[in-house]
Amino acid sequence: MKSPVPSIMIPAAEIQQRVQELAELVSQEYADRNLTLLGVMTGSLMFLADFMRHLNVPHQVGIIQASSYVGQVTTPGNLKVNLDFLPCLAGRHVLLIDDILDTGQTLAQLQEKVKVLQPASIQTATLLWKKSRTTHAVEPDYFGFEIEDRFVVGYGLDYNDDYRHLPDICELTESLS
Ligand code: 5GP
Ligand code: MG
Ligand code: MG
Repeated sequence: MKSPVPSIMIPAAEIQQRVQELAELVSQEYADRNLTLLGVMTGSLMFLADFMRHLNVPHQVGIIQASSYVGQVTTPGNLKVNLDFLPCLAGRHVLLIDDILDTGQTLAQLQEKVKVLQPASIQTATLLWKKSRTTHAVEPDYFGFEIEDRFVVGYGLDYNDDYRHLPDICELTESLS
């Protein structure tokens, strides 16, 4: 029987280094602004936590639940969003944090939904960007790595809810055993 095997695409040490660089850039840009990070769950869990540890500016944190993949699929369906547990965003400078920008549907829709809550500004940061697949009018203001059109797991990203715990970004390949 074939089962998928994760092979490392971006090692943990490189991820940590890049997350630190991004956090330093964001710390400079938000030095005089009231920052709220909004992590898009569940994929951004590790990125959000590591990013927070490296930020040198005070900030609040909220989470949004959003899912476009349900079950054993690697192509997106309709987006489900839960904004029920957010801190107050009115007048706050919001940075949306997501694991990966693919078609851009998720971040484009989330930006519209967050705008309604009257933040002072909205920017976006994603660890990964599959630039060649982005069809919606959205670009990450900050991103860690541009990657090819491959389905990746690890460092928070899942396939059917598995593999989120891996410290590296991995590609799933089929094994023969
Ligand atoms: P978009 O809405 O930009 O097409 O897709 C964004 C969401 O799709 C991401 O937040 C992520 O949850 C999921 N996604 C897109 N590409 C991948 C991938 O290669 N691996 C995994 N695990 N999720 C992905
Ligand atoms: Mg996601
Ligand atoms: Mg997912």
